[in-house]
Amino acid sequence: MIRYALACHGCDHGFEAWFASSDAYDRQAKRRQVACPQCGGRDVAKQIMAPAVKTTKGKAAAPDPEKLMAEFAAKARDHVAENFDYVGGDFADEARAMYYGETDDRPIWGETTPEERAALKEEGVPALPLPAPFAPKPPRRKDRTTLN
Ligand SMILES: [Zn+2]
Repeated sequence: MIRYALACHGCDHGFEAWFASSDAYDRQAKRRQVACPQCGGRDVAKQIMAPAVKTTKGKAAAPDPEKLMAEFAAKARDHVAENFDYVGGDFADEARAMYYGETDDRPIWGETTPEERAALKEEGVPALPLPAPFAPKPPRRKDRTTLN
């Protein structure tokens, strides 16, 4: 037995009905043997059910803003982690070197002290603090070649 949520196109009534199998439903629907209990109409079709599950098109039935935000933040984190060079505590020096043309521009991220941040701002060196949800986990320090 299988239960389907059906919708009547005649009166917009939604109802549920049991069928022996999905084949049985298909057969009965084809022969227009499935009737709307409200108006008796035979123009009945399966309701498109889309609970929290994503459809094949990737669209969620009801987007959950918190979930979307979390997904977005995760993408941003991955993007930074994959495309930006982690410079750790050298961020202020690296950003400054790029700003003054001592090194080539490249996307970097790392940490600054509040003092360094203030100094960068004063010098006009562009540096944007990453809000916590968008900041990836710092990679292990051993990845750095220029440890003191
Ligand atoms: Zn109806």
